Amino acid sequence: MLDVLGEKCGIVGVYGNKDLEASRLVLAGLWALQHRGQESSGISASDGNIIRTHTGSGLVAHVYDEKTLDSLPGYIAIGHNRYSTSGGSTAKHNQPVTNSNNAIALGHNGNLPSVVKLQEFLASKKISIEDRNDSELMFDALQYYVSEGSSIEDAVKQAYPLFTGVFCLVVMTVDKLIAIRDEYGIRPLSVGKLQDGYMVASETCALSTVNAIEVRDVKPGEMIVIDESGLRSVQISESKNKLDIFEFVYFARPDSALLGKRVNEVRRNLGKELAKEFKIKADVVIPVPDSAIPAALGYAQASGVPFDHGFIKNRYIHRTFIRPVQKIRENDVHMKLNPLEEVLKGKSVVVIDDSIVRGTTSKKLVDLLRSAGAKEVHMLISSPPIKYPDFYGIDTPDQKDLIASHMSVEEIRDLIDADFLGFLSYEGMIKATGVSEDLFSTSCFTGVYPLDILERMKEIKKV
Ligand code: 5GP
Ligand code: MG
Repeated sequence: MLDVLGEKCGIVGVYGNKDLEASRLVLAGLWALQHRGQESSGISASDGNIIRTHTGSGLVAHVYDEKTLDSLPGYIAIGHNRYSTSGGSTAKHNQPVTNSNNAIALGHNGNLPSVVKLQEFLASKKISIEDRNDSELMFDALQYYVSEGSSIEDAVKQAYPLFTGVFCLVVMTVDKLIAIRDEYGIRPLSVGKLQDGYMVASETCALSTVNAIEVRDVKPGEMIVIDESGLRSVQISESKNKLDIFEFVYFARPDSALLGKRVNEVRRNLGKELAKEFKIKADVVIPVPDSAIPAALGYAQASGVPFDHGFIKNRYIHRTFIRPVQKIRENDVHMKLNPLEEVLKGKSVVVIDDSIVRGTTSKKLVDLLRSAGAKEVHMLISSPPIKYPDFYGIDTPDQKDLIASHMSVEEIRDLIDADFLGFLSYEGMIKATGVSEDLFSTSCFTGVYPLDILERMKEIKKV
């Protein structure tokens, strides 16, 4: 199945002066973006003559060593951390995507819900589409136009209308770095200035950790080209700002900025909004670490209920959401989060998480809190119920597996065995961002898909 390889990944690109070891800076960027994908990682680098690539399965820490970095010389490099759905986890789809003559490399963050147009185009040119995922098909289309004599910039412009979906791309040739964002800007992409060069990255945390100066977001529909003559911008299509609001809710790192707003600040505001909507008499408010810590702090500040840590997170276990088997996922929760009896025993507890997807985590959390002696467990979620699947690059399951698509809040409360369950209202969520609603894609909450999901629409039931 080609179209289930949806990925919400992290991408980085660096263009430096001729002495720069760009692959090392890209590696630092990939470390900072590890949360965006833990399945595999890869770097392509060019010394001006040839592109060399290294990819491997697992975390950034496991994929590279000194030897691999030494084998990636050059002043231009791109990198990719991959996060794929269960259907797509084979090493042959690792990125950057390259070809046998090592003249182009591509890293993709996003997902094309439909690849029919690309497939038809490539088939008409007698190019095999067998076992090629969305990112690879995009690469193939670029490569086709380059083989027909187009420059890489022209190839991007020509192939762009075939890319029917969500994409932030870093593309390199032996002497150019290009960054492209689809016209809706659903996934983030920012540009930074290095002392002597440029860096692009999915999130600004990757820029700031290497002391790059955050310059701006790549605009929706914009192509940025960086080469010998500097940086130039080409607006390929209209700009319609529709950032996925889930980046604020869960996905992005709190030390990043999106649409000019600090993610940490927005998450804190989500907690403050929760405190306005749910006034609960409790002894303590605890976060589900790490992602809900800012929201729980915000709730504590606004409500006066004291903040504490009620779970200790094992730092060596990574995002459990990705595990394909439900049984393993449940055990993972306890492996990852262990309750602190001394904080919880005999207490009325407000526990805050950022989202409920399948409900696996929440059920297990309530169970753990009770076993640690909590007297009452009030669960608050710093986003509304997720009722619709994502087609834009997040690994949310089929609609039927989204618990809120077929259960009411009261039914979910009963199932997870909480004394109270409350979700932040849609209006509260928007307000917390400080950004106007029309700059967001909110599809997982509303079922409104700003970028046409074409034939995939039949997978959706309005609920
Ligand atoms: P559930 O157990 O309900 O399926 O998942 C909810 C938990 O998954 C929450 O704790 C939330 O922080 C986390 N979560 C929500 N969306 C994602 C995602 O896209 N990827 C990962 N890894 N975790 C997620
Ligand atoms: Mg979580």
